[in-house]
This record gives sequence, C-alpha cells and structure tokens, in this order.
Amino acid sequence: MPEKNRFDRKMRIAPSPRSSYPANMNSAILTPVAEVAPATNMPAATTEATDLQWQAVLARDAGGDGKFVFAVSSTGVYCRPSCPARRPRRENVSFFRGPQEAESAGYRECLRCRPKAVSANPRQELIKSVCRYIERHLDEPITLAQMSAEFRLSPFHLQRTFKAVLGITPKEYANSCRMRGFRQNLKAGHSVTRAMHEAGYNSTSRLYARTTSELGMEPSKYRRGAIAAPIRYTCADSPLGRLMIAATDKGICTIQFANSDEELEQGLKQEFPFALRRRDDRDLAELAQRVVRRMNGDGLGKNGIRKNRKNMASALPLDIQATAFQRRVWTYLQSIAFGETRSYSQVAKAIRRPSAVRAVARACATNPVAIAIPCHRVVRSNGEMGGYRWGIERKKSLLELEASKT
Ligand SMILES: [Zn+2]
Repeated sequence: MPEKNRFDRKMRIAPSPRSSYPANMNSAILTPVAEVAPATNMPAATTEATDLQWQAVLARDAGGDGKFVFAVSSTGVYCRPSCPARRPRRENVSFFRGPQEAESAGYRECLRCRPKAVSANPRQELIKSVCRYIERHLDEPITLAQMSAEFRLSPFHLQRTFKAVLGITPKEYANSCRMRGFRQNLKAGHSVTRAMHEAGYNSTSRLYARTTSELGMEPSKYRRGAIAAPIRYTCADSPLGRLMIAATDKGICTIQFANSDEELEQGLKQEFPFALRRRDDRDLAELAQRVVRRMNGDGLGKNGIRKNRKNMASALPLDIQATAFQRRVWTYLQSIAFGETRSYSQVAKAIRRPSAVRAVARACATNPVAIAIPCHRVVRSNGEMGGYRWGIERKKSLLELEASKT
C-alpha cells in the first residue's frame, strides 16, 4: 500500500537527534549550516537558513558545496548542492551539515556528485590552498585573474569566498604576508635587500609604496626607530684584494671582497640601505686582522688543525640570519678544517639531505660572511671549483693558499 510505504521510508530516515540547532546567521556564513529542525519547533532563523539552502540546491550553487548536503527521502540519497541530478520535490528534502550527519540519519552518498569526495569543508580547503598559492607567489604581483585561472573559479566568486572565510581580500592577504616577512627580516637587523626579496618585494619602489601605507611611515624613517641597525665597517688588505668587515653590536654581519673600498662601500649600501652605516677602522681593525689571519691559517700550529677546529668555528662572533636549511649547511661548513674540501653532495649527505645538492650549492652561494663560513671549501665532485660569490679566481687562490699552508 503506497501510504504505508511512504510512512516506512519516513521512519527509516528520521532526523538525527542533533536536528534541533540554534541558528546563528553570523556563524552560518563561516560554518556549515545545521540540519533543519522539525517543522513544529523550527526557529524562524532556521527557516530562513533552510530557504537559502533550498535556493542554493535549486540553483545548483557550487558555493554551497561543503557547507551542507541535502538528503532526499524518496531515494535515500544525499547530495551536494551542485549535484547535476534532477531536483527532488521540496517536501522530500532535508538538510544536513555534512556527509557524516546525513549518513547517521540513514542516507547513502550520491554516486553522481560524491559529496564525500570534497573534503569536510571544501570551501575552507579551497581558501587554504589559495593562501598557500599566494604565499608561494609573493615575489610576483598576484592578480585575481591569475588565481581565478589557477583555481578555475570566477574572479568574483574567488574574491567573495576568500573574503567570507578570512575577512580580507586575497590582495590584502598577500600584502600582509609580505609585510610580516619584511618586518621580521628588518627586526632581525637585516640586510634590506634580503629582507625585501624574502618578503617578496621585487623592487624598492614597490616596497616604498607598500611600506609607506602599511608601516605608517617610510622605510627611511622606520629604520630610525627601534629597528635601525647601526652597522660599523672597515676595509683592509687581504690575500684576495680589499676585504670589508661589517658588524652590528651583536657580531659580524658581512665579510666581502672587492677590488676597491668604493666598490665595497657601494655593496654594503645596497645590502643594508636602511642601516646606519659608519666606518670604524679603529674598533674593527682587530676583527679584520683575525679574518686575515684565518685566511692564512695562522695560529693553527703546524699540525694543530684538528685540535683547533672547534675554536676556528667559534672564534668570530657572527650576526647573520639564516633559514633552518642555510643554518644547517653553514654550521656544517664551519666544521670543515683549513685545507680540506668537500663536494656539494658530501655536504648534502652530511646534513642528512642527500638529495638537496642544489639547495646546498645555493646556501653556499648566499653565504654573507666569506671565510668565517668557509663556503670556499665546497667544490664539485669532479674536482672543478664550483661557484663562488666573490669570484672563482678568489676561490681558487684561497684553496691554493690553504693547500700551501697545510
Ligand atoms: Zn548527487
């Protein structure tokens, strides 16, 4: 008998005990909407929410996917709002917050739209991936159009969903990531060129445009505040030409080689444009001599290399920032004794990242303190020099010098 069949079916799919749910329109924006309460004690707000859900189902609105599922009593199946299947009759439909609730109420997943294939909350998952995408592309201007192509969503929908979940636009998110990185780098008393690149600014003018509005002042003023890092420097003769040592109050922040003091000072200005740079030959002369002595291997003793290895690594106070990976590489480099070399792949193995040979080479190439971190002692496995930030000829001379002293 038809009447009885219908009744049986209704019993089988009775709403779950969690059905009564105080609707909250604010949280309804961010969290999946509750299952509909029984008509008898349904609060008005819930009815509104339900109406919206039903509208979304009728419109096959993919924006509702992950926010809720709808179940159809006549088929015993639940779907996501965008399911392409024919729309059921309204009276056969009930709403649930997600697949789990629908299933505990006795419904089966629709094989056509597979509501479980999307994660528990695909909208938030989507926004998470958009965030990761933005973070990976901070070093370029990110346009809505570009992201819209990447995520196959209309720019409008992308922007709206992003804002609904995070409260800010993708562009604002990108800017805040950049500013956060930039501030952290500056606070570290760091090279602004590097801070800028790490924060994703690819030109000084863009940085200025941003910082003026977002730091609330120009970088030149910013540097005069707490973040202003006074840097003292000196230049001296070395076996590899002119040598510059620059130091903050905490230690050496850069050791460079060039052909003239002018070139060195220009380099320092580019590397630390916001720092208060001051030449201080008197106070730094001793440090400079220590670096030169180290280049010559003085103080090692005829066969005291190994004995002094530890001292060699810690003798110079350094004030440098590094990523975790750079730190591992650089720390390891400091353990390579005077006169010895390693290949890039040996270093990679030694730091237990055997496949990271290229990254090791990059870490060597970005070493800010020549000699103190002896990146010149890393060469190619085939015996070739490999690169050197201060020129291949200097690397060669340095290695020859070390070989002649051991
Ligand atoms: Zn379906």
